[in-house]
Amino acid sequence: MYIYPRLQRQFYLKPLFYRYAKSKLNLSQLSLNRPLTKAAYAPQEVIDLKRGFDDEIYWEESKARIKQQCTYQNAHSLFSKFKNNNSHDSDGLFENPYLDSPKGLRQFSKDSLKYAHELVNKMKSDTSKDGLTKYVLRLDQLSDTLCRVIDLCEFIRSVHPDNSFIEAAQSCHEEMFEFMNILNTDVDLCKTLAYVLEDPEISAGLSQEEMKVGKILLEDFKKSGIYMNPEARDQFISLSQDISIVGQDFITNVDVVQDSYISVPVRDLDADEVSPVVINQLSKDITGYHYKIPCYGSIPFILLRTCQNENIRSKIWSSLHSSSKEQINRLTQLVKLRAILARIMRKDSYAAYQLEGKMAKNPHDVKMFLESLIQFTRGATAKELKPIADMKCKSLGDPLPQNDEEVFLNVRPWDRDYYSFQLKSQKEQNKPFQSPPLSMYFTIGSVIDGLSDIFQKIYGISFALSPTKPKEIWAPDVRKIIVTSEKEGPIGVIYCDLFERQGKPSSPAHFTVCCSREMYSKENNEKIMQIGVDSNDVKFQLPIISLVCSFTRSSEGACLLQLNEIETLFHEMGHAMHSMLGRTKLQNISGTRCATDFVELPSILMEHFARDERVLSNIGRHYLSGEQVPINLVRDQLRESSFLQNCETFAQAKMSMLDQRLHDEDVIENIDTLNVVKIYQDLEKELKVLVDDKTNWCGKFGHLFGYGATYYSYLFDRAIAAKIWDHLFAKNPYSRDNGDIFKNNVLKWGGLKDPWNCVADVLDNPELKKGDTNAIKYIAEVEDL
Ligand SMILES: [Zn+2]
Repeated sequence: MYIYPRLQRQFYLKPLFYRYAKSKLNLSQLSLNRPLTKAAYAPQEVIDLKRGFDDEIYWEESKARIKQQCTYQNAHSLFSKFKNNNSHDSDGLFENPYLDSPKGLRQFSKDSLKYAHELVNKMKSDTSKDGLTKYVLRLDQLSDTLCRVIDLCEFIRSVHPDNSFIEAAQSCHEEMFEFMNILNTDVDLCKTLAYVLEDPEISAGLSQEEMKVGKILLEDFKKSGIYMNPEARDQFISLSQDISIVGQDFITNVDVVQDSYISVPVRDLDADEVSPVVINQLSKDITGYHYKIPCYGSIPFILLRTCQNENIRSKIWSSLHSSSKEQINRLTQLVKLRAILARIMRKDSYAAYQLEGKMAKNPHDVKMFLESLIQFTRGATAKELKPIADMKCKSLGDPLPQNDEEVFLNVRPWDRDYYSFQLKSQKEQNKPFQSPPLSMYFTIGSVIDGLSDIFQKIYGISFALSPTKPKEIWAPDVRKIIVTSEKEGPIGVIYCDLFERQGKPSSPAHFTVCCSREMYSKENNEKIMQIGVDSNDVKFQLPIISLVCSFTRSSEGACLLQLNEIETLFHEMGHAMHSMLGRTKLQNISGTRCATDFVELPSILMEHFARDERVLSNIGRHYLSGEQVPINLVRDQLRESSFLQNCETFAQAKMSMLDQRLHDEDVIENIDTLNVVKIYQDLEKELKVLVDDKTNWCGKFGHLFGYGATYYSYLFDRAIAAKIWDHLFAKNPYSRDNGDIFKNNVLKWGGLKDPWNCVADVLDNPELKKGDTNAIKYIAEVEDL
């Protein structure tokens, strides 16, 4: 329960108008506003993908060489007529000519806001039939305009190293957000939308896609309380604000520990096997009879792994998992406010309010999914814990556990790390020789190259490194990849900011800077776009993605990835492919802009590739000798990394269930006597595995705010991904036919096609189209998540 899942990496839940972001982008290398054809975009010289990431000197030299060639060719090329255009020579973040400075960012935001106002005025004044037919398209354009600024600002705030850029991004973000909130509660905008969708004559002129987007937006308006009487709406708005304030406060205090240290008798710890190096770092209390064990830093975790005394471990573990009274009050307040909001919205529970429009349509189905998963995983969990239980019983001189129940009774949460460590040490001792670390065979360049190879084989698309202009990137070691399809030429751009840097967030993330959509008939500002052409010769806006990780380079500059880091990179690239291969006309439903409990599917599917021994042995080459990775080393590491994996799944299921219970109808019914800690501990006792009946850990579960009633999404997508892997790729991870099936049934649709239809088509199981209780049960029955 201390390991946060991948879902944390990208936060997709966004308020109305903000779901859709996209952004900036701009001129191609050689031409302005011209579609990027293969020929126009192909670098003059191919930069070796692997070396381009692994060898900083090679990368810098390649950039310089290509720059020289381009300068010469531009001066003499057919495109030189563009040279007089200001933007051709200009340079800014993501090639957006505005973004060459914080001042430019402010100007970009100002101009975008002005354009958004113009659009709103047009939408309100143009009541002609033609105007109403274009209404949904204009709404799409409006959210596009706002989100290209907001998403950009979010990216800059999180990743940009320059404070003046961050400050500008902060103020632009606030300004845009405020305007967006006004739009979200604009009754006229909503009424016209409802009219457009209902009037038979007008709706007959809308495409299937426009109808879908119109309906999604109308639902969002309704969820913002637009149809309520003014009094109730004011209440809704004020509750939403309170929830946001309390929630932020809750998040900020998640890591605050209740006590700064715990006290343990000197004689107990001195009698233990704990290393004297650790003991020497501890201070004693005033009496001299007690050690003060800090509740922060690495010491408590070392003790959890190495201290034999269960009493001490239990004390440390409990202290690390406890929250303050104030924090529990914050959580109680948050849960109550949400319950009140649900009541105002006339829903049975906050979960019911949140789950509308999701794949798992209601709280009943989510709980059933989790219960099935829990039942399905319990046996495997007991099997994993058995060696731990046996070891513990032996060391205490107790009889060995005879069944699953006895295993669960014996192994407590504070035993897990200690006995796991003992088991591992035993295994290490029994090994005939020490094997080299797997990471020696996986440089970052070889992994990116391996990803390109997989995508080439399954989707017919590949990566090419492209040189960057000085202000196009925010840090010198950012690499730009042009994603190219065999059939369509360039289909998108990925900026890879993958190396550790001071002040950079450590959790990996995928930022959509700009998503794919068809060109509007009249674009307001083509110079900030980059344009591609699809296989039907239709021009579209190229998606732009930024992948941010924080991988460490050795002192000689080598960046070697561990198995979990390879998985991370594959995961994030899975999101990127969703953005690259999405082919919708409107940006509201492009690529990753789909149901929030469906969005992790493509990325989790990629994790299966990262754990496949055939894939790993194809990629792995020793970073010095070039020797292929020994298959036994791969197998050993895969086995080791799956240690206690079912326990981890079970822990995630418990957390997801807690998230449901804290947002269900019982909370509304018993709001006056609400006791969140009791709900947590009761659930722990009910589910039995690694039971925590001592702490109030729920105060440390920060995702309760961000995901409120949707935390199950990660497990849900893991279950679907496992089914799809088995069905399409387990036999052959490089199958083009099956890659096409996944691409054509899932990736290209974004949010246009119902996710259950996507899953049914991919799995060749039409029954799943119903998305009913049986479908959910089928998904939950899965081994090896
Ligand atoms: Zn993700």
